[in-house]
Parts: sequence; C-alpha cells; structure tokens
Amino acid sequence: MALATTWEIPEFTDAELADLNADFERMPAHKIVQWAVDAFAPHLCLTASMTDAVLIDLATRVDPAIEVVFIDTGYHFPETLETVEQVRRRYGLNLRMMTVPTHDEELWKVDPGNCCSAVKVGQLDRALANKAAWMSGLRRDEAEVRATAPIVVRDLRGLVKVNPIATWTDQDVADYIAEHDVPVNPLLDQGYPSIGCWPCTKPVADGEDPRSGRWAGQNKTECGLHL
Ligand code: SF4
Repeated sequence: MALATTWEIPEFTDAELADLNADFERMPAHKIVQWAVDAFAPHLCLTASMTDAVLIDLATRVDPAIEVVFIDTGYHFPETLETVEQVRRRYGLNLRMMTVPTHDEELWKVDPGNCCSAVKVGQLDRALANKAAWMSGLRRDEAEVRATAPIVVRDLRGLVKVNPIATWTDQDVADYIAEHDVPVNPLLDQGYPSIGCWPCTKPVADGEDPRSGRWAGQNKTECGLHL
C-alpha cells in the first residue's frame, strides 16, 4: 500500500533568506518565480497593481493556477479595471478580487495615511491570511525609496515576500512587454508612469520622477503595501 506523503511549508531563517537573496541577484526572474512556486504553492499568491501584466505573464508560465490578488480600493481609474478584465481573460487568471467594505469616502482627503492603511493594507492582510509567501512586481528602478529593495525578504507579518523582477530596469520591462505582447494599462501612454487610486494619482511630465504623481504635494511616497 502506498504511503501517504505529507508536505510541510518550508521555513527559512533570516540568514537563509539573506543567502537566497544573494543567489537570486544573479538569477533570471522566471527561476526565482519557480523557486517560490516550488517552495510555497498553494500557500503563495501574487499581488497585482495592473500597471502591466509582466509578473503575471512570468508567473503563469510557471504556475497557470497561481492566485493573483487585486485590491479593488473603490477608487481605481476605469482604465485600471478594464485592464484587470483584459488580463483576467488573456491568462484565464485565478483572480481574487479584494473588495473594500463601506468606509468614509472622504478619508483620502483628510487622512491618506489612514485611508491606505484601511483600504489597501487591510485588504492585503486579509488576502495573505493562511499564506506563507507572496510575490509582487516591485522594482528598484521605480523610485529612490525602492532602490535597495531585496528580492526575497521576510515581511512585517513574518511571511516570505518575493520580488522576482526587483533588479529589472524600465527598459527590461519594456523589452519583455514587447517580446511577449503583455497587456498594459492604457494610462501608461497618457502620462501616468505609476498608477494608483485616482484621487492620489496625477500625470507627470516627461523627465519628472515617475512616482511624483503619487500623493503629489503630500509628505507620502508609499501606500504601505511594501513595508
Ligand atoms: S491611494 Fe489614496 S484613495 Fe487609494 S487607498 Fe491610498 S489614500 Fe486612499
């Protein structure tokens, strides 16, 4: 009689994650995704902002059933929601839409920090319950505050966070999109190099910091998802 096999989610010490991080610096993104899938699926998901579908394209080549999380803040541009649908159809996504409970609709005006905490981070926490690891498309090239982002790290929840394309430049992303005909948010061609909620995202001029349209004029550069 065949013995039932048991599988336990692997645990990594901080030192082991640091060693992996060093190895991943020289590894192509699809192999990093493969490592994450091998180690953690199905206790693994990918979070998407729907600026483009580069990480989704990479990840679904490795694991077509990987869970893709999109946080519907209720404040997305119509173009972003259309991109969600386009990407869902193109890849047949195992998409998990996180919808936000009713809240003070003016909170972003008076307290964007708390708005992001309640709307975005709260929904991410909910999406990551029962997960061991998650992946995001965060890149060092996107902003100064992301310039030293690790490829693999333990997040504040104690989960393993993997950023498979952390080392990619804007040109790397553009090349991949062209080579694989990856869907992109149409706002990218309308002066929005970084796309978030409409109340907190403005277009930027050529040559300006791509993230300067996010929370413009406020002392805020991140929503807290990647802390
Ligand atoms: S980006 Fe703006 S609207 Fe969206 S959750 Fe943060 S503060 Fe609220």
